[in-house]
Amino acid sequence: MAYSYEAPVSQTLFDRASLVTPGGVNSPVRAFRAVGGTPRFMVSGTGPYLTDADGREYVDLVCSWGPMILGHSHPSVIEAVQSAVARGTSFGTPGEGEVALAEEIVARIGPVEQVRLVSSGTEATMSAIRLARGFTGRAKVVKFAGCYHGHVDALLAAAGSGVATFGLPDTPGVTGAQAGDTIVLPYNDLQAVREAFRAHPGEIACVITEASPGNMGVVPPQPGFNEGLKAACAENGALYISDEVMTGFRTSRAGWYGVDGVAPDLMTFGKVMGGGFPAAAFGGRQDVMAHLAPAGPVYQAGTLSGNPVATAAGLAQLRLLDEAAYEKINAVSAQIQSLVTDALSKEGVAHRLQSASNMFSVFFTGSDVTNYEDAKKQESFRFTAFFHSMLSQGVYLPPSAFESWFVSTAHDERAIERIAAALPAAARAAAEATEVSA
Ligand code: PLP
Repeated sequence: MAYSYEAPVSQTLFDRASLVTPGGVNSPVRAFRAVGGTPRFMVSGTGPYLTDADGREYVDLVCSWGPMILGHSHPSVIEAVQSAVARGTSFGTPGEGEVALAEEIVARIGPVEQVRLVSSGTEATMSAIRLARGFTGRAKVVKFAGCYHGHVDALLAAAGSGVATFGLPDTPGVTGAQAGDTIVLPYNDLQAVREAFRAHPGEIACVITEASPGNMGVVPPQPGFNEGLKAACAENGALYISDEVMTGFRTSRAGWYGVDGVAPDLMTFGKVMGGGFPAAAFGGRQDVMAHLAPAGPVYQAGTLSGNPVATAAGLAQLRLLDEAAYEKINAVSAQIQSLVTDALSKEGVAHRLQSASNMFSVFFTGSDVTNYEDAKKQESFRFTAFFHSMLSQGVYLPPSAFESWFVSTAHDERAIERIAAALPAAARAAAEATEVSA
């Protein structure tokens, strides 16, 4: 498909970037490979808007893939960052900011008795799995197809997110030994989990799952699924790890745990808790966390862990996320969801709009999506047409049909009106799309 609008400055930057960076980007999904066209190089963000290098403004429905839950450049976050930066950017010693952030996390999320700060969600899940293996003395890890837990070697088997976009079942560079202890099961299939425990008695260290998956598009756990995982782990001496990097502090004050109340043994966090900076965490049961160095024998460390600027940004953001903020985000999300589904229905486009609290995504299919196999059956070419129509009208969606959309407290009536105005043409484009034109 030829896209009739231009982004000349972004294109020039992309050409320059492609010479010095593989694929021109520092994280694959940013490259627009799934949808084609020129990735937009953004220069600034304010509230619900992003401005690209060509001076075009977009309503942002990606929110940096989740972190910007208060919108861009929130004055309180910026002020906290400026004040922290003025005192120095990294000390390599403990500092009060990291204690305060850990206290905030522990206070919000009951099952987290202790927490360790790291710098990315990938580090959080990698460390949680190492801890689970060290604690149980077992090697095997159960994960679910379509769940993405960062680019941890052992977990890059049937992962979602960019891996789903590129249709890679696996990736070169991960050895058989690294992935050999990973058991990949279909999502929402408790029977498969019970069978795995039967087939590998005393061998499974943990089951890791996205608390409510957003990396194959939004595919919530069916009623009883997370409870069933917890029970199966408890019966078999394994740990239940809930990856809340995406859902944490987003789907409620206490993340997805605040929605379903199922208490995991370990949890992982990132995105929102960093306020747009690299801060992430893993935490949980005190008796398990006590195995972590220097309290215990399982090694884990980080030069920039608990960085004073990142912790200041995260803390400032979390402190603004009270019940009223979540009510606002949920209401905005519900409004956008109904606008999207109305526009697509009006054009007769088969779709499923699936949501988990304020996270949502659209699958271009006539059937419910409960796992990765279902997700892959959607007509992604319709999303491509829909995406480009929205982009050309100034609405920035995730550039892949396999990603959650994100909103913020800053999405006001004006932003919603702009989305509403763009939807009819985008829905028409989706209706008229053919596989060849994509
Ligand atoms: N876990 C989940 C559920 C995620 O969505 C992500 C990233 O999207 C990660 C882990 C990895 O986090 P990061 O990109 O900060 O390494």
